[in-house]
Amino acid sequence: MNDLATVEAPVLDGSREHAPRISVVVPVFNEERNVAPLVEALVGALEGIPGGFEIIAVNDGSRDGSLAALIEEAKAHPQLRIVDFRRNFGQTAALMAGIDHATGEIMVLIDADLQNDPRDIPMLVDKLAEGFDVASGWRRDRKDARLSRTFPSRVANGIISWISGVSLHDYGCTLKAYRADVLKGVRLYGEMHRFIPIYAHWMGGRVTEVPVRHHARKFGRSNYGLERILKVLLDLVVVKFLDRYLVKPIYIFGGFAALSLAGSIVTLAVMIGLKVFAGVSMISTPLPLLTAMMFLVGVLSLLMGLLAEITVRTYFEAQNRRHYLVRKLYNFSRGA
Ligand code: UDP
Ligand code: MG
Repeated sequence: MNDLATVEAPVLDGSREHAPRISVVVPVFNEERNVAPLVEALVGALEGIPGGFEIIAVNDGSRDGSLAALIEEAKAHPQLRIVDFRRNFGQTAALMAGIDHATGEIMVLIDADLQNDPRDIPMLVDKLAEGFDVASGWRRDRKDARLSRTFPSRVANGIISWISGVSLHDYGCTLKAYRADVLKGVRLYGEMHRFIPIYAHWMGGRVTEVPVRHHARKFGRSNYGLERILKVLLDLVVVKFLDRYLVKPIYIFGGFAALSLAGSIVTLAVMIGLKVFAGVSMISTPLPLLTAMMFLVGVLSLLMGLLAEITVRTYFEAQNRRHYLVRKLYNFSRGA
């Protein structure tokens, strides 16, 4: 069955010749019955789109016939490229791999289960042409179980908007279009693919929201339950931390240390005051223990902050990273 051209991984190739304008990235895990209708729908929706397109399907260690189905489709559709994982690494890793292998200047992420509708893609792409860096799909009329999916995700979206300062109705919707340069340099871990619009916003990108269609799953079943909400919220804490304090972690650790040390001074003063003015024995109160604990916690946080500073320096310097982002340079080519 294998007369497709294959290459040994890794080929992270950002510069293939005649790169298409649009790269659609699809994570695929146990979606054998969705693959053919999905690819047909994508090709149908994108055929004739100016600049051309490619579809990067990442088979995330499917245990069913998804890979075979993809290979079948790729024979008929040269725009379909397949990245086949050695095992299941999860949706975020699959999206990341797809992005790494994509070459288009516009990247569209979409689920493989046909809950998103490929016919919405041109509309999202048009939004980018208007000057936005991210066009985020919003499943306004979501077709998932209300109590176990839609409602908790509403609450989560509210919290994420509040903490991140970016207000979107639907972070969880995979269907979003990005200008490729906002994705470059973004590394995704855990559940973080849903926070790309937040990164983009923090990096000075313009983010907009577009209502998209949503359908109930026809084939296969969802891979997630309620526990994902907790993961998403924990990831949010990490993202927020990385944004604010990656460059200067000592500020957050040191701030906490100062708080804790101040607390220990207060309890110490109260303890001595009670002893001197009211004759209360120090050890009859919990104050000595509190003082000692807060003092220790304070000193330890300060030391951890220093440790974090060292780590951060290694991080930036080992990878030659900059902690600022330049949008454009003017009048730099002085000519010879
Ligand atoms: N997916 C994946 N790896 C996984 C789990 C899911 O690539 O380990 C893909 C799955 O094939 C689908 C998308 O991620 O294309 C979203 O998964 P699912 O429909 O289960 O999530 P839901 O829509 O229920 O949030
Ligand atoms: Mg789904």
